[in-house]
Amino acid sequence: MKRIAVIDRDRCKAPEKCDYMCMKVCPVQKNNLKIFNILQDKKPSIDESLCIGCGICVKKCPFNAIIIINLTKEPDERPVFQYGPNTFRLYRLPIIKEGKVIGIIGRNGMGKSTAINIIAGLLKPNFGDFSKKYDDKEIIREFRGSELQSYFEKLYSNKVIISYKPQNITQIKNMLKEKTVRELLSKVINNLDEISKKFEIENILGRKIGDLSGGELQKVLYIFSVYKDHNLLLIDEVTNYLDIYERLRILNNLNEIKEKDTILIIDHDLLFLDSISDIIHIVYGVQKAYGAFSYPVGAKEGINNYLNGFIKRENLKIRDKPIRLDVKSYTDIKFGKNIIEWENVIVNLDSFRLEVNPGYIRENEIIGVLGRNGIGKSTFVKTLAGEIKYEGNISKNLTISYKPQFYDFSNYNITVDQFLKGFNEKYKEDYKEYLSMLNISDLLDREVNTLSGGELQTVYTFGTLIKDADLYLIDEPFANSDIEQRLVLSKFIRDIIKIKGKACLVVDHDLIFLNWVSDRILVFTGEPGKYGKALGIYENKEGLNIFLKQLDITMRTDEETKRPKINKQNSRLDLIQKQKGIYFE
Ligand code: ADP
Ligand code: SF4
Ligand code: SF4
Repeated sequence: MKRIAVIDRDRCKAPEKCDYMCMKVCPVQKNNLKIFNILQDKKPSIDESLCIGCGICVKKCPFNAIIIINLTKEPDERPVFQYGPNTFRLYRLPIIKEGKVIGIIGRNGMGKSTAINIIAGLLKPNFGDFSKKYDDKEIIREFRGSELQSYFEKLYSNKVIISYKPQNITQIKNMLKEKTVRELLSKVINNLDEISKKFEIENILGRKIGDLSGGELQKVLYIFSVYKDHNLLLIDEVTNYLDIYERLRILNNLNEIKEKDTILIIDHDLLFLDSISDIIHIVYGVQKAYGAFSYPVGAKEGINNYLNGFIKRENLKIRDKPIRLDVKSYTDIKFGKNIIEWENVIVNLDSFRLEVNPGYIRENEIIGVLGRNGIGKSTFVKTLAGEIKYEGNISKNLTISYKPQFYDFSNYNITVDQFLKGFNEKYKEDYKEYLSMLNISDLLDREVNTLSGGELQTVYTFGTLIKDADLYLIDEPFANSDIEQRLVLSKFIRDIIKIKGKACLVVDHDLIFLNWVSDRILVFTGEPGKYGKALGIYENKEGLNIFLKQLDITMRTDEETKRPKINKQNSRLDLIQKQKGIYFE
C-alpha cells in the first residue's frame, strides 16, 4: 500500500504554537525510526515510505494540518509533478489531440490548474523528484511512446502558441484596471466594430476593465483569448457570471472555431461541457493531496462516468456514491400557506420598467428564477421586500436575506468565523452538521479575503441562509463551485428552507442545478437594461419549456444518468421536439 502524507505548511504552526505534537505521537517515530524530519522552515516532514498510515498524527495535530492517504493502487508509478516534500502531487496529464475540444471535469483542488500550467510550459514536470530540475530533453524522454511526447517536443521548441483564459478573472481585473476594453481588444482584433456587435459589447468598449461587472469582464477576456494568435486555446471556467444567453453565445462561437482549433476547456456547467467537448478527461483524487487525470473517453461516457463515480474503462471507483440528478431531497414536504401574494405589479426606475404577472410564494417553497442578467430579477425581489416603489398590489412586505451576484470582499480581513457570526451568533451550535457537509469547518480561521471564488460563494450562501428572514434571495450560488459542491449547496438550500418553513428564490444559470434545487420556476423575459417581465411561476418542466422556447433550444434527458443534455441545433431530435413544442423533454 502506498501512503501519501501532506502537511499544509500554512496551517502548521510549528515551532511557535505547536511543540511538534505529530512527531511525539507517531508510533514509528517512537520506535526510533526517523520518519519525521524538521525542515529549514522549522516545520516537520514525514517520510512516506516509513509511514504505516495509522492516522494518529492527523487526529492529534491541533491545527488540522496533516492529511494521510492510504492508496491501495497508485494511479501511476510516480506523479508527473509534485510541488515539494509532503505536498500535492499530480498523476498524468490531459492529452492534447490536435483539432479536438478536450473537456476536463472534476472537483476543484485536484490539480487542474497545475496541469494547465504544465501544458502551458509555466511549470516543468519533475516526476515527483522535486529536488531535481529536469531539462527539456529529459522531460520529452520521460513521455516517450505517449501522445504527450510530440506535444512537449513542440512546446519546448516554441511551436505551441498558447492563448489562455484563466479561471481567476478578478486578478486580471486588478492588473488591467486602468485599461479600457477597446485598448485591450484592439491589440488582438482588427475589425473590432464587427466583433463587438457579434458579442454585443459596443456599449462597454470605452469602459475601464476595473469598472466592468463579472459577466462583462468574463466575456471580454474570452473574446481576447479567442482572437489572440494561438494554436492551442485554454479556457478555464468561462461560464461563471455569464447568463444562459451568453453561455449559449460562447457555445456557438466555440462551435464555429473548433474545426480549426485545438481547445482545452475546464467547466462545471455540465450542459456546456457536454455540448462542446469531443473527449473528456475526469480528474479524480483527494483535494489538497493528489489528483489524477483519467484516460480520455468520449464526452457522454466521461460525464456519465463522472456522475456515476465510476470510471468503467479503468474499473475505478472515484466516489462512494453516484451523483443523482433525478432524486431531490424533501419532495415529501407539503407546502404551507402563502407567505406573499401579488397582483400586476409595475416598477418604473429611471430607464428600466418591470412588469410582474400575478403570483404567490408559499412556505417551504424554493423558487428557481430564470432569465437574463439585467432584466429585473433582483429589482423584483427588492420590491417584495418593500425597498422599491411600485404600482399594483403586494399582500405584505417581507423581511429578506439577500446574497447578491457580485460582491467585493477584498478588504475583509476578518475571519470566516467572525463573518458568519455577523449573520447568526449561534451558528456553530445550530448548524454544526452543515459546516462539515459544506466543507466550511476547515475555513473558519481563514480570512475572508483569502478564500477562493467557490469557497466564498459557499460561505456567503451559508451566511445568508442562517440569518433570520421570511424570504431568502440567493443570486448565483453555484458560480465558481465544482459539481459536488453545487450538489451539497443545493441540498443545504432545500434542507434549511424546509426545516425553517420559509421561502427562497434562487437565481442561477446552471439549469441542471437550478432545476434540482427548485420546487417551481419563475420565468423572466425582456430586454436587459430596458424592460423586464416576470411571466409567472410554473411547475419546473413547464417553466423550463417556456424559457427554452424563448432561447430556441431543446433539451432531452440522458437515459443512464437522467441528466439533461442540449440537442444539437437542427439535429433530428431538435427538429422533432420543436415540432411537438416540447423544448424540455
Ligand atoms: P437582474 O437582477 O436581473 O440582474 P436588476 O434588477 O439588478 O436585474 O436590474 C435591472 C435593471 O434595472 C438594470 O438595467 C439596472 O441598471 C436597473 N436598475 C436597478 N436598480 C436601479 C435603480 N435603483 N435605479 C435605476 N435603475 C436601476
Ligand atoms: Fe506516523 Fe501514523 Fe502519522 Fe504515519 S499516520 S506519520 S505512522 S502517526
Ligand atoms: Fe505542525 Fe500539526 Fe505537526 Fe504541530 S502537530 S508540527 S501544527 S503538523
